[in-house]
Amino acid sequence: MAKMFINGQSVSAQSGKVLDVLSPVDGKKFDEIPRGEKADIDLAVTAANNALVSAWGKLTALERGRLLVKLGEKVLANHEELALLEARDTGKPMTTARTDITVLARYFEFYGSGSDKIHGMVLPFLNGYTVNVLREPLGVTAHIIPWNYPAQMLGRSIAPALAMGNAVVVKPAEDACLTPIRIAELARDVGFPEGAINIVTGLGEEAGAALSEHPGINFISFTGSNEVGVLVQRAAAKNVIKCVLELGGKSPHVVFGDCDLDRAVPIITRGIIANTGQTCTAGSRLIVERSIYPQIMEKLAKQFSQVKVGTPDMDLDCGPVVNLAQRERVEFFLKEAQKSNIDVVAQGVISPGLPKEGYYVTPTLLGNVPINHRCNQEEIFGPVLAAMSFETEAEAIALANGTDYGLMAAVWTENGGRQQRVSKSIKAGQVYINSFGAGGGVELPFGGVKKSGHGREKGFLALEEVSATKTVINYHG
Ligand code: NAP
Ligand code: MG
Repeated sequence: MAKMFINGQSVSAQSGKVLDVLSPVDGKKFDEIPRGEKADIDLAVTAANNALVSAWGKLTALERGRLLVKLGEKVLANHEELALLEARDTGKPMTTARTDITVLARYFEFYGSGSDKIHGMVLPFLNGYTVNVLREPLGVTAHIIPWNYPAQMLGRSIAPALAMGNAVVVKPAEDACLTPIRIAELARDVGFPEGAINIVTGLGEEAGAALSEHPGINFISFTGSNEVGVLVQRAAAKNVIKCVLELGGKSPHVVFGDCDLDRAVPIITRGIIANTGQTCTAGSRLIVERSIYPQIMEKLAKQFSQVKVGTPDMDLDCGPVVNLAQRERVEFFLKEAQKSNIDVVAQGVISPGLPKEGYYVTPTLLGNVPINHRCNQEEIFGPVLAAMSFETEAEAIALANGTDYGLMAAVWTENGGRQQRVSKSIKAGQVYINSFGAGGGVELPFGGVKKSGHGREKGFLALEEVSATKTVINYHG
């Protein structure tokens, strides 16, 4: 049975309760995790607070950075083991799981080498004064992460926090805890002091809620659904602490008639089928200039009909989705499309002979989807692309901005002026021009506007989010 990780120890829940871990491949139980609750969160927050005033808190920025870099190396040294664990827990094809582990290592390398390169300032002020602006950690940082990219999300969330000298408490999603637990063990093996990294497994409404409401934390980073994001922000407000929310998206590709279609089409396909569509930045809407609509749909239909779904070790384009609720969610949206007589332009293929209790869904290309249809407004979190067409640039921008979300977008055109106008008019945290990198780029500041959330992760900006300045004004005459 897997254990959680508190104060440098692998432990069970105080209550002794456990949760079953089911395989997305066949719905069968293959492990158990502790069902942590408030008592376990209390222990983890206490351990983190103690770490700040003991071995972990005493390290220099250089020493913290070296530990993070070592952890990145350790992840790479255990690459295949971690990729297998990630694939088993989430159902990802092995190639995707391997990429995720490489990116996880990259987070530790990037922030490890950044920890001693972010610093304060000395400000000019009145005669007789010296003003130092120090940059300090926030204290104990809480990280509630989702199941879609457990390894990557763990790295994205905790690496900057640790680089700045915070101590972290993580609540992974109950469907994807195994890799986060293993990473905490590897961190111990490379020398992270006790209490610096704590992982409490359990249910969102128990362990997750207890963590977000805990008076002993100083910051929360949350990635997941809108509904829970609102609860987390409310809990943060009660304790008057900062929260960073990453709540998903409905990211559009805006495709103009002059674009390089041969480049665009495979990238657009990949942007929605990668990770079986369970990506916050999935390019789930396609907004195409009417003159080329038939042409691009024909090319995309060809691609979609070749998309194959299978188990992680078959290593096809898509694996199963993570759990039964997610399978039912994707099926629900496909039924909604059918009810509204929306064109099913093409569908991928679920390999024959897969266990029928597994969580397999059919990749689907929908055509002429009205902008106000649910399939165009809500995050399906599955391999479903909704296409529509436009006449004018203004109409394209209105469609791109026509949802509550604003996480990512892509603009496809060879016209330089249009590249600038459209990318500036789209409300999103990241806009690609003639490219699309769902989840890509550890170096690139990332986050949402509108209901996609607030705050920034990745890049150097993440180090600012998990630290605060202190201005020391010294009169010396
Ligand atoms: P979710 O409930 O928001 O889960 C995200 C994280 O929050 C998990 O660790 C979850 O733990 C935890 N959580 C749940 N309830 C909580 C509470 N009351 N207080 C504190 N933490 C809590 O998301 P989901 O139900 O797994 O997925 C539903 C939908 O959310 C998806 O279909 C998708 O549209 C969206 N989603 C978006 C992202 C993203 O990257 N933006 C990621 C995942 C899901 P448990 O899992 O253990 O409950
Ligand atoms: Mg799982």
